[in-house]
Amino acid sequence: MALSGLDIYKLLPKTNCKDCGFATCLAFAMALAQKKVSLEKCPHVSAQARDALESASQPPIKLVTVGVQGAKFEVGNETVMYRHEQKFHHPCAIGFLIDDTLSKEEISKTLENINELRFERVGQVIRPDLVCVKNTSGYRNKFLAAVSTVEAVSKLAIALYGDDEGTMAEALKLCREKRPLIVCGEKASSTAFINLAKEFGVPMAISCASLEETAEITTTAKAAGVDEIVINLSEKRLSKRIQYFTYIRRSALKKNFRPLGYPVMAFTEESDPVLELAEAVTYVTKYAGIIIVKNTDRDFVYPLLVARQDIYQDPQKPVQVEAKVYEIGKVTRQSPVLVTTNFSITYFTVAAEVEASKVPSYIVCCDSEGMSVLTAWAAEKFTAEKIADTLKKSGIEGKVSHRKVTIPGYVSVLSGKLEEVSGWKVSVGPREASGITNYLRSWKD
Ligand code: SF4
Repeated sequence: MALSGLDIYKLLPKTNCKDCGFATCLAFAMALAQKKVSLEKCPHVSAQARDALESASQPPIKLVTVGVQGAKFEVGNETVMYRHEQKFHHPCAIGFLIDDTLSKEEISKTLENINELRFERVGQVIRPDLVCVKNTSGYRNKFLAAVSTVEAVSKLAIALYGDDEGTMAEALKLCREKRPLIVCGEKASSTAFINLAKEFGVPMAISCASLEETAEITTTAKAAGVDEIVINLSEKRLSKRIQYFTYIRRSALKKNFRPLGYPVMAFTEESDPVLELAEAVTYVTKYAGIIIVKNTDRDFVYPLLVARQDIYQDPQKPVQVEAKVYEIGKVTRQSPVLVTTNFSITYFTVAAEVEASKVPSYIVCCDSEGMSVLTAWAAEKFTAEKIADTLKKSGIEGKVSHRKVTIPGYVSVLSGKLEEVSGWKVSVGPREASGITNYLRSWKD
């Protein structure tokens, strides 16, 4: 658990010497608690206090980096149990299991499909993060051949999953520069894999049957100099796994129990696509740092990525689009002008309906700090004056020959005032975006 400003203050010299740039030790302590300043700024802190403060300032859940630039992700470093308490920092990584029992052609084809799994949603690109090659065959040559294919074809980060340390060492020689995650199989020697992680400088996932065993292995690994660890529990029952994941998160965040302060990993067990999706989404919501699924269909992957995007969205910063004029279709000087807020979901919903209407139109987005129409109106971020100002400054006046603007039906109350302050004739559009198609088709210049 992070130390409060007062906890930190108790460990400082309390001389108020100002050498740190702050007027008092208390002010410095408060800034340190908010991570606005580093401990280095105080040259007078005792070695004992420094140890205590440095260990308390470590993130309660270790940040783990897998891969290298271009195919890299980070997990961990989380600070809260629930997103509304602050925000989740690093979206869980989503990857695919590739068995080395597949032929080279099958693996290549699957990887090519995975490489195409990129989607754009509310102005953001969402995509999976890694491919996990598993030594299911038990044969070294098959595993190395599969790893070579993945190394050559995949555009994502790599995880290597197996039991035999000799095979894993050979696989690491093939792709060590991609900084793969090595996943210690259930029959593997964790000591041997810790040595491999240390020798090759890669992160590792430990496989454990219980939380006690997990704490023992992470402590051993840390003592050996391996600290980028992911916890992979061998428990298969979903309810039990979620219970363990919650316990691990609580122990790290609330008790500052370092041996469990690492991201957790989950492999889906379900085979039916609907059940597998439900299982994977459960892991997204309940604390998995890495999720490995079997299904690579676009229809399966997209909703999973959407669930992750929504859960990891900062609740204090709505997804926004740039506040400006958007042209939908081949607009002319007679095209309709619709005004809305710059909340991404609002904009993309309106844009999709305008596109569907096949009536080329302008959408003028007001800067509402990313709030939706009614919220922005209630917060006075979407007022008649603000819309009038946007119409004036956005350049829309030079793009159309008319002066007619349509506002969302939910803020019809603004129409009179907007006409008065903007000089535009105001029409009230539908309350719901679904009504835009019919509205535009009957719109007249
Ligand atoms: Fe206090 Fe250290 Fe800052 Fe001096 S430098 S005021 S002792 S925190």
